[in-house]
Amino acid sequence: MGFSTECIHAGNLPDPSTGAVAVPIYQTSTYVQEALGKHKGYEYARTQNPTRHALEENMAVLEKGVGARAFASGMAAATAISTFVKSGDHVVCSNMTYGGTYRYYTQIQARYGVEFSFVDTADPAEVLRAFRPTTRLLHLESPTNPIMTLCDIPLLSGMAHERGAIVVVDNTFASPYLQQPLVLGADIVYHSTTKFLNGHSDSIGGIAVVKSPEHLEWLSFVQNSSGAILGPMDSWLVLRGIKTLVVRMERHESNGRAVAAFLDGQPKIRKVNYPGLATHPQHELAKRQMRGFGAMISFDLGSFENAAAFLGRVRLCSLGESLGGVETLISHPASMTHAAIPEPERSRLGVTPGLVRISVGIEDVEDLTADLAQALEAIPA
Ligand SMILES: *Cc1c(COP(=O)(O)O)cnc(C)c1O
Repeated sequence: MGFSTECIHAGNLPDPSTGAVAVPIYQTSTYVQEALGKHKGYEYARTQNPTRHALEENMAVLEKGVGARAFASGMAAATAISTFVKSGDHVVCSNMTYGGTYRYYTQIQARYGVEFSFVDTADPAEVLRAFRPTTRLLHLESPTNPIMTLCDIPLLSGMAHERGAIVVVDNTFASPYLQQPLVLGADIVYHSTTKFLNGHSDSIGGIAVVKSPEHLEWLSFVQNSSGAILGPMDSWLVLRGIKTLVVRMERHESNGRAVAAFLDGQPKIRKVNYPGLATHPQHELAKRQMRGFGAMISFDLGSFENAAAFLGRVRLCSLGESLGGVETLISHPASMTHAAIPEPERSRLGVTPGLVRISVGIEDVEDLTADLAQALEAIPA
């Protein structure tokens, strides 16, 4: 079946007790058992919840995996996946990974004897050099925040597999509509459902999808044992959000392209980072590996003062962290999402003082470009 059909129908079966067309929010902690050892497959809601299960079935189909497990946040999903390695193992990770992932790896997991190398995953040779005999996991993110750098998922997956490591991809920025890492060769894909999947900026959640039954068995065990599950209300919100994923992503995509083209033509803007622009260094890779280029764009206004003046003037675009919602969000990575990275390192990664990131929403694009145009007037020529 087609992807749009799957978004709406996969996992969304009519409720067996009433026929309700929308999966009910099973707001319960436990289930009454008929007799000792006799129940309907549900014993306790940390372990099994029908609303969460519907979302997990839905996402397993959308990401072409054997199963999925939903967690309390994107970070809770990353934490659960981190149990695929143990003390003494080595992880190779993108040096442009989400800041929360970097913090978790370096300040928590490293305390338990796991070793990390953070490398530029856009350069396969650099990834290869980082591999050790103990490397068990390659952690990728594509496109990355906020420079929109890609990595070649099929190529790097092949390299990792030859060396006995599993490949994990954070697919939050693309969503399964734009990119399906398991099809491209990865073993595990995960999302912050907080972003495009839920899509309405009203829930925090995470989900991991795996390709092998053994990985699913372990992930299920971890989900139940460590317990950072997604609650039924949030599971329902994400399930509902995904029903419109395709129509939202099509609009995000067309708005994204139009806003990138608008920004690219502005004399006050030094550089626009968007995989859909022919000038993006990995434009060809994006065409090969993704179905479209999405709605995440960053651009450089040349100085902190210019960025501050511009961000102080936007009206329709809301200043805030997060992304992937129907409303356009705009942010200043150097002082917001990437403030924890020390300055020389930050600039080396391309997060300059003048850099602005925009998550293009699904408003009328003329309103967005008009807002950006009037905000650019705040910058001296
Ligand atoms: C937001 C985000 C996360 C973390 O997700 P939470 O739901 O905030 O815990 C991880 N990766 C990426 C790329 C993100 O944008």
